[in-house]
Amino acid sequence: MIPVVMYHHINSDDLPLSNSDTMMEEHLRLIAQRYTTLFPGEKSAAPSLCLTFDDAYFDFYYYVFPLLKKFNLKALLAVPTFFIRESTDLEASLRLSLTHHQIYEGENYKTFAPFCTYTELREMIQSGHVTVASHSMHHRNLAEAGVDLKEEIFGSKIVLEEKLGYRVESFVLPYGKYNDAVVALAREHYPYVFRIGNAINPSWEGIGGLIYRIKGDGLKTPGTLFSPIKRLGFWFKMIVKWIKS
Ligand SMILES: [Zn+2]
Repeated sequence: MIPVVMYHHINSDDLPLSNSDTMMEEHLRLIAQRYTTLFPGEKSAAPSLCLTFDDAYFDFYYYVFPLLKKFNLKALLAVPTFFIRESTDLEASLRLSLTHHQIYEGENYKTFAPFCTYTELREMIQSGHVTVASHSMHHRNLAEAGVDLKEEIFGSKIVLEEKLGYRVESFVLPYGKYNDAVVALAREHYPYVFRIGNAINPSWEGIGGLIYRIKGDGLKTPGTLFSPIKRLGFWFKMIVKWIKS
């Protein structure tokens, strides 16, 4: 069984999509005590988890990456390529200063570099603690009419691979939205395609070709996700989804 957890921000004003840095530290400390963390496709006999962080905000590099090193953990970072700059000289405090809404306003992604840069992505990959997924190019709802699926799904992979010199095997669906055409194209180019959905996965094949992710944002306590009742819920949902698929 492979539980995969999904997170977004650290210390953001967008509370449903964020945890505080102290909550994340205690949460990751617990994970390190109880689980082996895996990159997509890896197997382990020990109780294991796959940690995924969406959107490649600079707060991941600033808060989470040092914790991954401290606790010797691995995580998958989902990168929307359009928003990523090569490098920046801006102060961390400025890059962290935007609200969630401001990050996506106008050209703020250029002016304030609120996302990880390619230089930072390379450093994190080199460390062995981070691997990257494509999270499309423009972070659009891919199920909507008029979206260039080839550019979003395959074009983003080409960009990442050229910039990082690295094979990208995972795709994370923006907003968890998809239709049959989206899934078919994503599966053609990536062995691992992730959605949202609070279920665990029987294997890296996922359920119906998609890997489900449990929501890890807005934690109430560091151990919230690991309570027996929560775990039972994730199992139950897996079984329901499995039967339907
Ligand atoms: Zn996203």
